[in-house]
Amino acid sequence: LETQIMQTEKLAVIGRLAAGISHEIKNPLAAISQTAFSLKRKAIRNANNLKDSVIEASERIERNINRATEIINRLLNFSKPFYSKLEIVNLKDLLEEAIKLALIKEYDVKIIKNLQDINILADKNALLQVFINIIINAIEATNYKGEIIIKNYKENNNAVISIKDNGVGIPEDIVDKIFEPFFTTKEKGTGLGLSVSYRIIKDHSGIIKVNSKVGEGTEFLIILPLEVEKNEL
Ligand code: ADP
Ligand code: MG
Repeated sequence: LETQIMQTEKLAVIGRLAAGISHEIKNPLAAISQTAFSLKRKAIRNANNLKDSVIEASERIERNINRATEIINRLLNFSKPFYSKLEIVNLKDLLEEAIKLALIKEYDVKIIKNLQDINILADKNALLQVFINIIINAIEATNYKGEIIIKNYKENNNAVISIKDNGVGIPEDIVDKIFEPFFTTKEKGTGLGLSVSYRIIKDHSGIIKVNSKVGEGTEFLIILPLEVEKNEL
């Protein structure tokens, strides 16, 4: 039954996404269709100034195709978070930025940082999104009033980022599901944060691990190869 409910929720979310996109795309499509139709009528009637009409109509069609393309690109960027825009990223700076962006309100959350200057080659915006997703989850897990320890260090040939909260923890029977798209235990959750993060880290040849205990808290470990830096430069 639980899987059935989950499935229904997934479909509902997909439905909402599709509804939003098709709604937005309908406008430019209607404009294109209407422009083409009226141009055809003018051509059949052999109307005056047909040349001007063709130019005007072409420009209108171009504008609306561009708008539709923008809308589709937004959706693609949303579901395809990795753009292979590799650059040297300072993990300390990026984690500082993610903390700022995740703390949108003055929560009672205490953030303890132990950050080192470690550079890796990464897609900066994609990685920033991962850190934000995991920090926001940590904040939510402590009901906005816990303690979060964020640190990074080198281990073997990897850069390790640890984000640890003292929140509710993850029950053993769902820990395998948390990276699935649309899996959420939250009333207003999307269940997309961790699946997107998983994909981004995988695209960086890294891994995400989770250690959790109900009632004690959760630690997310992001392990990224330092080697990429040497290979690519
Ligand atoms: P969402 O936050 O929208 O629910 P996510 O993909 O970010 O989606 O997370 C999926 C689920 O994983 C959450 O609903 C929650 O059950 C669990 N989870 C993620 N991070 C934590 C955490 N730090 N502590 C406890 N549970 C977590
Ligand atoms: Mg989340």
